[in-house]
Amino acid sequence: MTNREIPYKIYLEEKEMPEKWYNVRADMKKKPSPLLHPGTLKPMGYEDLRPVFCDELVRQELDDVTPYIEIPQEIRDFYKMYRPSPLVRAYCLEKKLDTPAKIYYKFEGNNTSGSHKLNSAIAQAYYAKKQGLKGVTTETGAGQWGTALSMACSYFELDCKVYMVKVSYEQKPFRREVMRTYGASVTPSPSETTEVGRKILAEHPGTTGSLGCAISEAVEVATHSEGYRYVLGSVLNQVLLHQSVIGLETKTAMDKYGIRPDIIIGCAGGGSNLGGLISPFMGEQLRGEAQYRFIAVEPASCPSLTRGKYAYDFCDTGMVCPLAKMYTLGSGFIPSANHAGGLRYHGMSSVLSELYDQGLMEARSVEQTEVFEAAEQFARVEGILPAPESSHAIRAAIDEALKCRESGEEKTILFGLTGTGYFDMAAYEKFHNGEMTDYIPTDGELSAGFDGIPKFAGNPQ
Ligand SMILES: *Cc1c(COP(=O)(O)O)cnc(C)c1O
Repeated sequence: MTNREIPYKIYLEEKEMPEKWYNVRADMKKKPSPLLHPGTLKPMGYEDLRPVFCDELVRQELDDVTPYIEIPQEIRDFYKMYRPSPLVRAYCLEKKLDTPAKIYYKFEGNNTSGSHKLNSAIAQAYYAKKQGLKGVTTETGAGQWGTALSMACSYFELDCKVYMVKVSYEQKPFRREVMRTYGASVTPSPSETTEVGRKILAEHPGTTGSLGCAISEAVEVATHSEGYRYVLGSVLNQVLLHQSVIGLETKTAMDKYGIRPDIIIGCAGGGSNLGGLISPFMGEQLRGEAQYRFIAVEPASCPSLTRGKYAYDFCDTGMVCPLAKMYTLGSGFIPSANHAGGLRYHGMSSVLSELYDQGLMEARSVEQTEVFEAAEQFARVEGILPAPESSHAIRAAIDEALKCRESGEEKTILFGLTGTGYFDMAAYEKFHNGEMTDYIPTDGELSAGFDGIPKFAGNPQ
């Protein structure tokens, strides 16, 4: 099949959409490490997690063996409103780069929340409703998760309380208003409304907040309010499971045209879009059916995979959540105020951490000005104005395509374009004015974060 027979956009028909999520843990010989209770250091079971998370989501969290999990019909119906998302052949970008590489991207920004996060938000809201809960609490960084969750909650008529990282709350008033349009209440974090928020404010006056702080606040409110549970937009196994819809659609679309990616790239904050995109491909690799190169791209200002430690750590700054084994910068690490809010988390999904540790995935870090250069280059030829987070993947995809120009190799590159950047124009403005800086933490700053990793026998420091 020649290139030109492949359309610009490969869509799927409704009947080709996935009916089941794929759980990559089922095909991992060495499983990701279990969550540990922060007090007893024992693996957390179903009963331990139920006070925090919805019952069905706890089951999904703990299930390391079932490869395919049915997507309930109500969720599939909601998916049909904005999915399948297009898989686009970046013909114009290829031409601009003058590369023999073939570039594809899966675009998840075609819904009001503007990112892939709605894929998991709707699932989590569905299970909360099914359990008869009144509402859910959560944190949001850049605002995409809070927006997605408020949309999902309004669809199922659930109350939604969002703790928004203060720097984003101030930088992104429009995101906040989108959430309120969907009926959510939005509180800047750290706040005076929780015990943990007051403690963090006392210790770090004037802090601009972090995802870790906001998680602590949201968990406290959920566990102290009758009929509420906490939901999380990334990092957890259940979220990667829901996001596998991205990879499953991509694989079906590629298989239809006999396309096989050589390199699969995604930006990595907590790891959910990347995990979802690569899952079915990684599954093939784990079963010995195919080989791919997987690349996680993270900001140089928050380099959990490339410079972090693989250890048990707290998922939140307040140290109220379970311990997860992950590549981490320490739960007290507060990254510089870079513009990719969705990539400012101190740790990485246990699934991706384990795959990375086994050498099955690569990781690289990129600086924000080079990320915005890539974003602008992409916007000018492909039309879509990308989110700063997504642009980390664009940077790496362009770099790989340029390597192909040097070597003459016709590699097929697939990357996840997680969302649009309309609410990030203040960051684009800084970039255009030449006011954007690149901040790379020193080893000293990182070691201060590592000091916060809990110390117990067998836990690397
Ligand atoms: C949240 C977000 C990310 C990062 O989260 P992951 O869980 O690592 O996928 C990336 N891109 C966009 C647009 C986001 O909103």
